[in-house]
Amino acid sequence: MYVAVTGGAGFLGSHLCEALLGRGDRVLCLDNLSTGRLENLEVFFRSPRFEFREIDIADPAAMNVDRWAPDQVDVVVHLASPASPPDYQMMPLQTLAVGSRGTENALRLAARDGARFVLASTSEVYGDPAVHPQRETYWGNVNPIGPRSVYDEAKRFAEALTMAYHRSSGLDIGILRIFNTYGPRMRPQDGRVVSTFIAQALDGDPLTIYGDGTQTRSFCYVDDLVRGLVAMVDRTVTGPVNLGNPVEWTVTRLARAVLRLTGSRSAVEYRPLPIDDPTRRQPDIAVARSELGWEPAIGIDDGLRRTVEWFLSRRDESPRTDRP
Ligand code: NAD
Ligand code: UDP
Repeated sequence: MYVAVTGGAGFLGSHLCEALLGRGDRVLCLDNLSTGRLENLEVFFRSPRFEFREIDIADPAAMNVDRWAPDQVDVVVHLASPASPPDYQMMPLQTLAVGSRGTENALRLAARDGARFVLASTSEVYGDPAVHPQRETYWGNVNPIGPRSVYDEAKRFAEALTMAYHRSSGLDIGILRIFNTYGPRMRPQDGRVVSTFIAQALDGDPLTIYGDGTQTRSFCYVDDLVRGLVAMVDRTVTGPVNLGNPVEWTVTRLARAVLRLTGSRSAVEYRPLPIDDPTRRQPDIAVARSELGWEPAIGIDDGLRRTVEWFLSRRDESPRTDRP
């Protein structure tokens, strides 16, 4: 298969490119390198089945899909978007643009080729959920004008646009609502909780807990998540389908686990809870189980251990620099 992956230089995207190349697919990776890194793609450049194009998928010029995807593709996986709260709040307009115009340009490519279109949506479409755990039938509780809205509403619009293409032109689409995922290739300074705690613990800096640490998240290891992404690429499931590890942890519990696994003596520091920070989040994955035959296999201790090892191996190689 020939698969176009927008956002392919990012955390999830690079793991997806790796999985697709590993099974023999041809991959067209499209990325503007705003939060992604070429370093994530280094090993793939050796493969004749891998192509990279640096483009902003939200650029009006990207409406002309023939310019950036001349060959016919079989599947488009649309992952391009800042994903960490500090990233998307630093790039509010770009986040709205990639969720709207960027999604439309990616859909245009799929429509040109009659390809399957897979959208990486998010648990954030549920906002600060009033229903727990979250099933796909829940419509969410999102503040449309808060600081997180640039991301949440962009993803909700992206889902609506994807469904509109599906309904109006019969495009084969699949919508995934991805819950918090962690693992190797996260940027140590990306501001997400797992990467932040690991980097702080390894540096001997205080772990910064926002609020009182009782808020919950359900953390999925990247290899599990990518297996689910690949299953969605291969099937004709429309969804939406939640993808995440239903084991729910408080942020305090995560901090303790990171301290234990790193052997760090870092202190813990409390900071104000960001505005509209969801108080709890846990996926109901019954649909993923039945429609995709998917469930996570890697426990959080194991996943965190692998992630810590990767962070340690990278520190040996390079000094502490990061973007954006
Ligand atoms: P990431 O920031 O590591 O990757 C996003 C990639 O998109 C980067 O490589 C970035 O350079 C690229 N990008 C951003 N805007 C672009 C544009 N206009 N044109 C081209 N490329 C652009 O984030 P990630 O964690 O890998 O997330 C990937 C996708 O999965 C995102 O759509 C995100 O919303 C979704 N998601 C991720 C998680 C998670 O926990 N990692 C959870 C829910 C949803
Ligand atoms: N968080 C924290 N300390 C940090 C970064 C995040 O306590 O240094 C909290 C954050 O307030 C949220 C949870 O950890 O309650 C998950 O945050 P993250 O940014 O990883 O993901 P999201 O909020 O998008 O689920």
